[in-house]
Amino acid sequence: MSDATKGFGRKFTRYISELMNDTQGHVARQFEPLDLEDKVLSYELSDPLGEEKYSPLPRLVHRYPNRALILVTDICAVHCRYCFRRNFTGGDVGLIQAEEIDGIATYIAAHPEIDEVLLSGGDPLTATDAELSLLLGKLRSIRIDLLMRICTRIPGVNPSRITDELVSILAAHRPVWLVFQINHPDELTPDVGAAISKLLSAGIPVVSQTVLLRDVNDDPDSLAKLFHGLTVWGVKPYYLFQGDLASGTSHFRVPLRKSIEIVHELRSKVSNLALPQFAVDLPGGGGKIPLGEHAVKGPVDGWYTLTGPEGETGRYPDEDESK
Ligand SMILES: *Cc1c(COP(=O)(O)O)cnc(C)c1O
Ligand code: SF4
Repeated sequence: MSDATKGFGRKFTRYISELMNDTQGHVARQFEPLDLEDKVLSYELSDPLGEEKYSPLPRLVHRYPNRALILVTDICAVHCRYCFRRNFTGGDVGLIQAEEIDGIATYIAAHPEIDEVLLSGGDPLTATDAELSLLLGKLRSIRIDLLMRICTRIPGVNPSRITDELVSILAAHRPVWLVFQINHPDELTPDVGAAISKLLSAGIPVVSQTVLLRDVNDDPDSLAKLFHGLTVWGVKPYYLFQGDLASGTSHFRVPLRKSIEIVHELRSKVSNLALPQFAVDLPGGGGKIPLGEHAVKGPVDGWYTLTGPEGETGRYPDEDESK
C-alpha cells in the first residue's frame, strides 16, 4: 500500500462496486486508489479548511455564527479518493459518544445564535438507527426550531440504507434537511431515485452537493445531465465545489480558470433552478467563497473589482468594518 492510502484504504459498498462494473469509469475513478495520491504538493494541507482553529470542543466546528458543524463519526461507507477530510476520515475516532453529545448540546444551548447544526463527518448515516435516534433526540431537545442538516454520501452509495425505519426517525426530528453528495449522472440510478423519493415523501427536503473532479465530471454536458436529473427528482442542486487543497489530491483538481469556463457554459444548459452555487473553501480557513459568474479581484483601497460574463467590470465595496 502506498503512503497516501495508509489509514485511508480502498473502501466501497457492494452497490458501488456493481455500479463501477456497469459504468464507464467515472464512478470507479472516485473510489479506486492511484499511486498519484503519493504526490503531495507543498501547499497542500492535512486540514485544508483550517477547521481546527474554529473548534471550541472536540468534534465541533463553529465557523459561522449561526451554524455549527458536528463531526459525528470518522466512518464512511466509501472512501472517496479526493476527500478533503481524508486525514480524519477512516481513522480511529469512531462514533460520537453520549458524553460528547451532551457537551456539544450544552455549548449549543449556551449559544442561542446557533440556529442550525450540520451533522457531518465521516458519514452520519453509517451510524445505526438507535444511535441516530439518540443523537437527533438530544439535539432536538435543545430547541424545537433548531435546523438539522445531515451531510451524507449514503443515498448515492448505499441507497438500501434509506429504509422506512431510518426515514421515520429523521421525520420524527424535523426540521431536518438532507444534503447528499453526488458527482456524475451515472450515479442517478433508479435505486437512488427511490431512496430520494422516500425522503421527500416524508417531508425531508433534499439538496445535493457536487465536487468538480478532473476526468470525472469536468465537462458542462455531464454536469448539466446530473443537475437536470436531480431537479427532475425534486432535489435542488445546492453547491458545486472547486477541489480543496487536500494532500495528494492534485490529480483531481480542475484548474480554476477551466472550472469557471465550465460553469459559464453550464448556465446556458440548465435552468436556474438546476444551477448550484459554484464555490470554493479558501485554503486554511477563509470559509466558502461563491465564485459566481465573475472573477473577483482585489480588494484595492476597500473595493473589489468584479468582472461580469460579458467582460464588463464593476466595483463592490469591501464592507468589513474591522479593517
Ligand atoms: C459549509 C459549512 C457550513 C455551512 O455553510 P452553508 O453555506 O450554509 O452551506 C457551516 N460550517 C462549516 C464549518 C462549513 O464548512
Ligand atoms: S463520504 Fe465524504 S467524508 Fe467520506 S470519504 Fe467521501 S467525501 Fe470524505
